[in-house]
Amino acid sequence: MTSNSGISENTPHLLVLGMGGTIAGLAPNPEESPLQYEAGQVGVDALVAQVQSVVPAGVKLVSRQLVNINSRNLTDAHLTALGLAVSEALLDASVRGIVITHGTDTIEETGLFLQTTCGKLAQTQSKRVILTGAMLPSNAPRADGPVNLLDALRWASMPMDNCPSGIYAVICGRVCLAMDLAKRHATALNAPLQNAPSSSVSLINPSWLSGVKAVQAVWNEDLPIPGEDEWPWVEILTSHAGARPETITHWLSSAVQGFVLAGSGQGGFHDDWIKPLDQAMVQGIALVRTTRTGAGTTLHNIPELDAPGCCASGALTAPRARIALQLALNAAKQANKAGKPLTWQDFFAKITDLPEIR
Ligand code: ASP
Repeated sequence: MTSNSGISENTPHLLVLGMGGTIAGLAPNPEESPLQYEAGQVGVDALVAQVQSVVPAGVKLVSRQLVNINSRNLTDAHLTALGLAVSEALLDASVRGIVITHGTDTIEETGLFLQTTCGKLAQTQSKRVILTGAMLPSNAPRADGPVNLLDALRWASMPMDNCPSGIYAVICGRVCLAMDLAKRHATALNAPLQNAPSSSVSLINPSWLSGVKAVQAVWNEDLPIPGEDEWPWVEILTSHAGARPETITHWLSSAVQGFVLAGSGQGGFHDDWIKPLDQAMVQGIALVRTTRTGAGTTLHNIPELDAPGCCASGALTAPRARIALQLALNAAKQANKAGKPLTWQDFFAKITDLPEIR
């Protein structure tokens, strides 16, 4: 672990975990073309050093680089490493809170992963975990990373009576539950929070806060973090005009364990998929139906009757539904090994049953 403030690791501190992303990006010509850059170039210790002098008095910082990547290259093994680092830090009495600097492309997946594997632990340990990132590289003239990191550090260290412990994201002056992140714009500075129910970081919105408390009241048990080689193979397949049966049959000779079907509209898929999907189910491939629209709810048996065993994703978007299905398949496998007759659908329903914050 790197301590960029020179403090002992036993001193109460906030831990900053670096994953890379644009917040750690560098542009060769930042004045002329700030959007032409490499993500994951600057170490997390340097990002922390930039804000060290303005963090709230008495807050000590320790940083640790887990990886330094463009998050479009995030792997199952990276998520395992992050989940283990977060849970270890939540159990460490000297860590007051955790901030994670992350690329925004796949921050949506990481948000759901952390909520469902560490959300309960964060509550029982009375700590906050905050994801943050940036849309402009660190050397761009109006880089948004330092302010986002500072806001995230303030959120991590804020008294618990203002807002409960849990897994959040702070970007562009706003805060949301990490599981509500949704990058729905290629370049806007608030892109990861587009469509996400959120509050201003400076003035907490009471109705958002009661939604947060409702989610936390329901989330009563974390799912196991899969070992780096244990992640089930799950693919997202998108239905579209002219969809072909081969989009499904292509996979039937592979070791794939689940499909998230990103359907059109309310989550319906092309009729040409019906037969091959029946075959997929016969082969034991898990099926989840969601909508490719990126927002709204996919309900069971709407628009058509679901095949037995196929789950609707509720409010989960396709990238979140994919992580949820992987975790649910793994949780069922672990439960079965321990002699508990639970199915992936049982675990998946725990995630889709979480109340939606509006
Ligand atoms: N491609 C970058 C990444 O996800 C984008 C970002 O960080 O905003 O790492």
